[in-house]
Amino acid sequence: MTVNHSSKSLQEESRELADIAASLRGIVLAQRESGLHDLPWKSRPRPAQDSTPQPSLTELAAVVACCTRCSLHQGRTQTVFGTGDPNARLMFIGEGPGRDEDLQGEPFVGAAGQLLTRIIAAIGLTREQVYIANIVKCRPPGNRTPRPEEIAACLPYLTTQIEQIRPKIICTLGNVAAQSLMETTEKISSLRGRFHRWRGILVMPTYHPAFLLRNPEKKRDVWEDMKLVQKELSKSAP
Ligand code: URA
Ligand code: SF4
Repeated sequence: MTVNHSSKSLQEESRELADIAASLRGIVLAQRESGLHDLPWKSRPRPAQDSTPQPSLTELAAVVACCTRCSLHQGRTQTVFGTGDPNARLMFIGEGPGRDEDLQGEPFVGAAGQLLTRIIAAIGLTREQVYIANIVKCRPPGNRTPRPEEIAACLPYLTTQIEQIRPKIICTLGNVAAQSLMETTEKISSLRGRFHRWRGILVMPTYHPAFLLRNPEKKRDVWEDMKLVQKELSKSAP
């Protein structure tokens, strides 16, 4: 019996390719429908003994850019992933993009952002030397507070970002950032002023710059918090 090896292997190859394509489609569909389920990689402290390697920040940004895990994707102009030094020792985390951020694709570029830039400058750093991100990557309609299910859907992106950057200190801005990251219902007014820990990383919760614009008398508290941050950073300056 004569067997046409080359055409048979071509057939096999195309069947295999079709199988691979089908399972990839399945993974993508499952992921889309999973809503609140885990992302395909595990976000956990390094060193991770995991067969699925964590994506790099660039890969993660590409995944986020086409994310539809929660309904916030419907109203966005673009996702706002994060910006700054991928090796930063200090990371700031806000709540979510506002109008300016949604239009420009960068976190904290509006009025609150300008104040954040000044807060960063007050401890002798620039925006380029720190990393700035948000709890949710898409703008909530009318700048409303992100809902628990939206936060839950988006949070694995942030935790992966943090694990990749592995800063010495995280400074959370406002109630939503502090409570979402540290899984607490405690208020920012009682959380601020001292360090907490998240997966071994120091966390300083402080007021959100947008809140400071409405309550300038609270700037003194933020300055106290930032002095603690600066002191801690200077202990192990590179
Ligand atoms: N407020 C936030 O919490 N994040 C931004 O990026 C801008 C304003
Ligand atoms: Fe995805 Fe986060 Fe945007 Fe929701 S907010 S669609 S989870 S990137």
